Amino acid sequence: MEYLPFTRPDIDEATIAGVVEVLRSGWITSGPQVKAFEAKLSEYFGGRPVRALVSGTGALELALELAGVGGGDEVITTPLSWVATANVVVRAGARPVFVDVNPATRLIDLDRVEAAITPRTKAIIPVDLAGLAVDRDRLYAIARKHGLRVIEDAAQSMGTRWNGRRIGSFGDLVCLSFHANKNLTTAEGGCLVLNDAAEALRCERLRLQGVVRLPDGGQEVEVPGAKLNLTDIAARIGLGQLEQLEGFNERRTHLARRYFARFARFDRSLHCGLPPQEFANTNWHMFQILLPLDRLAIGRGEFIGQMHARGIGVGVHYPAMHLFKLYRGLGYQDGDFPEAEKVGASIITLPLFPRMTDADVDRVCDTVRDILRTHMRPEHR
Ligand SMILES: *Cc1c(COP(=O)(O)O)cnc(C)c1O
Repeated sequence: MEYLPFTRPDIDEATIAGVVEVLRSGWITSGPQVKAFEAKLSEYFGGRPVRALVSGTGALELALELAGVGGGDEVITTPLSWVATANVVVRAGARPVFVDVNPATRLIDLDRVEAAITPRTKAIIPVDLAGLAVDRDRLYAIARKHGLRVIEDAAQSMGTRWNGRRIGSFGDLVCLSFHANKNLTTAEGGCLVLNDAAEALRCERLRLQGVVRLPDGGQEVEVPGAKLNLTDIAARIGLGQLEQLEGFNERRTHLARRYFARFARFDRSLHCGLPPQEFANTNWHMFQILLPLDRLAIGRGEFIGQMHARGIGVGVHYPAMHLFKLYRGLGYQDGDFPEAEKVGASIITLPLFPRMTDADVDRVCDTVRDILRTHMRPEHR
């Protein structure tokens, strides 16, 4: 049977032909395709200014700089994310202050955020893990009350809505990723949604060496900008993807429903933790279960190996970040964020991508069931 990866990008022939045209055009780095992609993205995000960047991480880095986050500042975020979320804070010279997750949503627990705010707190970085939106109403109420900037790590949220409003179409600084695994990809890439034209101009300068082009052909530089511009090759992929995004996300939603229906048949006996059955405020970037490790005779690594041996790829998104050496070095330790630790130790990302068939979902579920049943400790069978 064909190997089923946990995700796979879906690039159609029209997009491939478009990329070939760009390659033949003689203009392959930032140019007309980037302009066109930014215009479409801006339209998608309700007319807000958008700047395309080389990665979601680059978007977070620029957002922190635009928000004025630097040495001595604190930034509140979740321990359960891709490590980029906290790394960018450290690289900006600030301190990531983690707040535990709500085990039901696996997202930052907004009930605990205010207790983590200090006079040094400058910003909050919420993360929409698996594309499930953090409650934007409560989040922005807290931010307003304490005068904090919000840098949304919406890397996984392309197409997600919060109570009907598209993520990116409102809020403060919103960072998206177009990495190969995301719902919309440009191979590598990302974008930053900004508040106004002045902020967009600052972003434009910061993404390319700080260079300002003068009318007489000369240049001026006032800030040491980075090098984070997107190529036209990548932007052309993004233009093709954007047209298909709604269809991609509908298909993901359909497959997620099928996962729930299939797991409902046997989940009670398997004691898997399923994601929240939420269809309004997510784009189903990932379908993640929690393994019942306390009932199993095998660990997560062995489970992953057995899935792989049966032709199915699964992922781990993510181990709790505060337990990485880097963050232990900042003073974090085991037991600091028990909910994130529990989720991070047992979470498994099952295959979910638009080209998957319904039969693929059934095969994944049946394989999970077989492996878990085989290795359930006798007293739990
Ligand atoms: C993918 C991702 C990023 C980083 O995006 P890149 O484009 O890979 O730099 C940041 N945060 C989260 C939650 C992500 O999933």
